[in-house]
Amino acid sequence: NDTVYNFGGNAKSSDPRAKDKTVVGGKGANLNEMAEIGLPVPPGFTITTEECLAYLEKGADFSEKLRHDVTSALDHIETTVGKRLGDKADPLLVSVRSGAAISMPGMMDTVLNLGLNDETVEGLTKVSGDERFAWDSYRRFIQMYSDVVLGLDHGLFEEALEIAKEDKGFYADTEMAAEDWKELVAEFKQIAEDERGGEPFPQEVTEQLWGAIRAVFDSWDSERAKVYRRLNDIPHDMGTAVNVQAMVFGNMGDTSATGVAFTRDPATGEKAYYGEFLINAQGEDVVAGIRTPQYLTKAARENAGADKASMEEAMPEAYAELADVFDLLEKHYRDMQDIEFTVERGKLWMLQTRSGKRTAKAALKLAVDMAGEGLIEEKEAILRVDPMALDQLLHPTLDPEAPRDILTTGLPASPGAAAGKIVLDADTAELWANRGDKVILVRVETSPEDIHGMHAAQGILTARGGMTSHAAVVARGMGRPCVSGASAVAIDRDARTLTIGTRELREGDVITIDGAKGQVMAGEVPTVKPELAGDFATLMEWADKHRRMRVRTNAETPDDCRMARQFGAEGIGLCRTEHMFFEAGRISAVREMILAEDEAGRRAALAKLLPEQRSDFQSIFEVMVGLPCTIRLLDPPLHEFLPHGEAEFEELAKATGHPVEHLKRRADELHEFNPMLGHRGCRLGITYPEIYEMQARALFEAACDVAAQSGEAPVPEVMIPLVATRRELELLRALVDRVAEDVFGEKGTRVDYLVGTMIELPRAALMAGEIAQEARFFSFGTNDLTQTTLGVSRDDSARFLAPYVDKGIFARDPFVSLDVDGVGQLVELAVERGRVSRPDIKLGICGEHGGDPASIAFCEQAGLDYVSASPYRVPIARLAAAQASL
Ligand code: PEP
Ligand code: MG
Repeated sequence: NDTVYNFGGNAKSSDPRAKDKTVVGGKGANLNEMAEIGLPVPPGFTITTEECLAYLEKGADFSEKLRHDVTSALDHIETTVGKRLGDKADPLLVSVRSGAAISMPGMMDTVLNLGLNDETVEGLTKVSGDERFAWDSYRRFIQMYSDVVLGLDHGLFEEALEIAKEDKGFYADTEMAAEDWKELVAEFKQIAEDERGGEPFPQEVTEQLWGAIRAVFDSWDSERAKVYRRLNDIPHDMGTAVNVQAMVFGNMGDTSATGVAFTRDPATGEKAYYGEFLINAQGEDVVAGIRTPQYLTKAARENAGADKASMEEAMPEAYAELADVFDLLEKHYRDMQDIEFTVERGKLWMLQTRSGKRTAKAALKLAVDMAGEGLIEEKEAILRVDPMALDQLLHPTLDPEAPRDILTTGLPASPGAAAGKIVLDADTAELWANRGDKVILVRVETSPEDIHGMHAAQGILTARGGMTSHAAVVARGMGRPCVSGASAVAIDRDARTLTIGTRELREGDVITIDGAKGQVMAGEVPTVKPELAGDFATLMEWADKHRRMRVRTNAETPDDCRMARQFGAEGIGLCRTEHMFFEAGRISAVREMILAEDEAGRRAALAKLLPEQRSDFQSIFEVMVGLPCTIRLLDPPLHEFLPHGEAEFEELAKATGHPVEHLKRRADELHEFNPMLGHRGCRLGITYPEIYEMQARALFEAACDVAAQSGEAPVPEVMIPLVATRRELELLRALVDRVAEDVFGEKGTRVDYLVGTMIELPRAALMAGEIAQEARFFSFGTNDLTQTTLGVSRDDSARFLAPYVDKGIFARDPFVSLDVDGVGQLVELAVERGRVSRPDIKLGICGEHGGDPASIAFCEQAGLDYVSASPYRVPIARLAAAQASL
């Protein structure tokens, strides 16, 4: 297999690997493809991701073959451009960029202007006829190479530049003349040499090239890249490709420019070109947010009330060509594209294209619009939207009627509303968020090192940067609201305060940001429920048409049930009845029951609970009328309901008339060393049948009453938890049937119902054939099934699972995404054995995994009939189920 693939010029490869993202990364594949469809792409080559992995495996060493192949690939660039790397008279300069299969914006390293040294800079001056440009490029190269490859503190260089400008009384970089850059280059070289203990800045161009390749490879394993991958569920074993490409220059004067653009608006999905550019600048200037960029289109500029000319106005010819390229790329890729381009002395060059990151709102609009335009099919539209992204749309937005104390307005970089306490750095954001605070991260600008803080925050506010700045791109990808470029914000990091205009604020003060309008408000602005019509409703309708599995909800209150129905739930998959036991006013009857010395005492207390449970079930059945409702009988160990602390014991003593000492002794007796494996689940029903009798009576009475009132009966599915043997279920099913007959006799009416069980112990999965003889349905309780199969406590795992994921032992937290390889086998086996003994057995899942798209895909494969998820996850599950069946 080749280690390197050429693109541009007359490179033509019939090898499918040259366009395979897993081999050459996303950037490499698309550069190759753009060149092939005839777009202006500077020539270059891509080193494969396989070489990155081999390099890391070899302990940071290149293979012989790679050394050889890079030399001949460099020849391809040199021949195409007609310049040679290191040539004193007319030097070739190259960029060296990372490019993984899944894009990780800003996470990995890039070096531009490589090939400059004390001699070639003179050649560049002569050939370009622009001394200032040549020396500006050289100082940029030293600055970037020192940071990325040599690992020197970039602050030292920035400081030197600031001081140089200050000394000369300059404000902007553009005021620096050739001589000024020359002086600064000398200073930069000195800094590098001092910092490297006397070793000079590398002048040898092939040494520069291999250094940059090495740095890009190494950046795959950088801390920030690892964090990004963990947050985005990107595997750690993919590696990055390296793209080496002839430089084109956006900083060759006023007919040159560089920019970033989207073929449609990535925040709203609106069909309008969207982007920014800077005249006389290099690529990193736009993304880094150092200068505030100009708009691409005249309409966008006018809309924003900006006065600096748009690209459409300032460079009409290059703009027109660019617009044609946008249309061509959208048709070719059939998706919204995120593009980097450079104009060098009037000539347009394409440096990158990829599917653009988008907000959930935009994703929906793009999918529905593109299906409408005939660009994609309805099925493709369903597959285009990340189910998890819907979460962004289901949460409240700012009340348009509420008053807003507006502090300032910046750019609407990522929509959505967020309120929280101001924090001024990423570590503080994480710290405060972990202790339960909602925070807004406020920074001058964000850098990739801030990624963990951005994730911990509800929203992000930056003083600098445009709509395509790091903060904006990352925030949109994460679904965090973001206001960027709010230049009225001034931060004093030492005093931990900030001023916005004339207002003084301190870290910890609450602000609200509106990412759709770019507004920053003092205090917390009230919110309203989201609108579920429009594109959302359309896409959901398409999804429902294409999915096989049903979607139910895990809910135990009428409010949650109502919300879940609005979100499209088709029944209850799990009603955890113990939640009703915790309600105020009941807990003392529950405790009285638990603390009773004998059955008679327990029955007396249960009699008090009966009417309460009945009315709970009644209100749930009323909401869910006509739909199946899985009601699970009591599951947790009894001592979970016991009082904690002196005051609660005293209160209970008063309520029950039992002395405190007596209550404490009972509590001690109920103590368990391993409660998750203790006296819980169906074991309660076996030892204290009167508890399950009360619950069964309450639910059948409620079902009969609702049927009588509304004419339509709910369909109770009575679920017995934590069964390990057939006999347990046999005994408890007989109990439920007996109570049902009693109630039907008393009411003179009947309702349909089913008795079934949870499969949440390995033995239950193994013995599913026998158990199915007693069960009309199985619901996989994958929380407990994961806990018992892995032998990992679901309540204690947080402490050690993160390192397990980092080390690749688990691809994802198995309590979040089902361990398909292990636990999945037990599910499949139970499905198979259950169906053999009862072909029409109903099969579902009600663990947390029922709301996780990857686990839902597994459930589809395993042939389950439904998944059940918490109310806010219901739309996610509907879409994921549709995607799984396509
Ligand atoms: C389960 O174990 O997966 C389940 C749904 O039950 P609970 O989470 O209540 O233990
Ligand atoms: Mg369970």
